[in-house]
Amino acid sequence: MDPDARERALLGIDLGGTKIAYALGGEDGHPRRERRRATEPSGDPRADVARMAEDVRALLREEGLRPAELGAVGISVPGPFDPDSGTVLRPPNLPGWDAVPLRAWLGEALGVPIQLENDANAAALAEWRFGAGRGARHLVYLTMSTGVGAGLILDGRLYRGVRAGAGELGHVALEWQGEPCGCGLRGCAEAYLGGACLERRLRQITPAASQVATLAGGREHATPVHLVAAAHAGDAFARAELARYTHYLGRLLAVTVFALAPEVIVLGTIAVAAGEELCFAPLRRQVAATTWPHVAAGLRIVPAALGESLAAHSGLAVALERLIGLDPGLGA
Ligand SMILES: [Zn+2]
Repeated sequence: MDPDARERALLGIDLGGTKIAYALGGEDGHPRRERRRATEPSGDPRADVARMAEDVRALLREEGLRPAELGAVGISVPGPFDPDSGTVLRPPNLPGWDAVPLRAWLGEALGVPIQLENDANAAALAEWRFGAGRGARHLVYLTMSTGVGAGLILDGRLYRGVRAGAGELGHVALEWQGEPCGCGLRGCAEAYLGGACLERRLRQITPAASQVATLAGGREHATPVHLVAAAHAGDAFARAELARYTHYLGRLLAVTVFALAPEVIVLGTIAVAAGEELCFAPLRRQVAATTWPHVAAGLRIVPAALGESLAAHSGLAVALERLIGLDPGLGA
């Protein structure tokens, strides 16, 4: 790196289905200024991207910066994209966004290099650089929100695979001829671990006497949040359901451990809410019992650490990867 160059600012954008978060940081990737707003897709993606560029300029003005002074921009995008062209394919939560060349459009508007990653990869980078996986060389990040997303850090770098398709652990089959999955296959991990599938199950099978139903105001309103709260309160149905959930998660982790032998597995969302006693402790026991000691020895299974600040860190972690890619000395 040019020793005369002053520190370059990084910009991270977390483009979510409901919220868009902007974070400005230094070369260490830590956020120092943040903005969030509702995503509000207009139906015209050109206009949506122009508004994003205007948001970025407004944030930079607060620091007296111009876009040309940014070292890199990283964007966490929901759902699939073409990594070669930087085109967002068709995120389910962004109406009107069908094959949007986000990298080209925003790059032209701002005049800076832009890196896209899907949200699970961006979150994996963020937990690796700034959260529960700091210092690891081999890390798997797994999040169970509406669906199941995963990101893989292998040998100290994000592993993307062909067409950035690696890490689709949510569609590993856990049951032969099992529950239908939104992807069209059956028995996928997501059909047991995804929030949407869990919610559908709860609304079908929750007994009226369970605290899940009481907390939700009727089982037809039950969500995973009610399940976890009722389990913490000792409700027998909720505890059994959460044990079933943890069991399926353990099956997926055993596959992951045999395939990748990670040092650390970072779990987000439902696992974090369920906590040590109801999730992490039984999960560690199951993984130890269903894998080989020399593969799982030293494996840490830990909750994600970034919580509410994940959105701010995700885009910046992607920007940091871009900057390190341009200037490898920074990542040493
Ligand atoms: Zn599937």
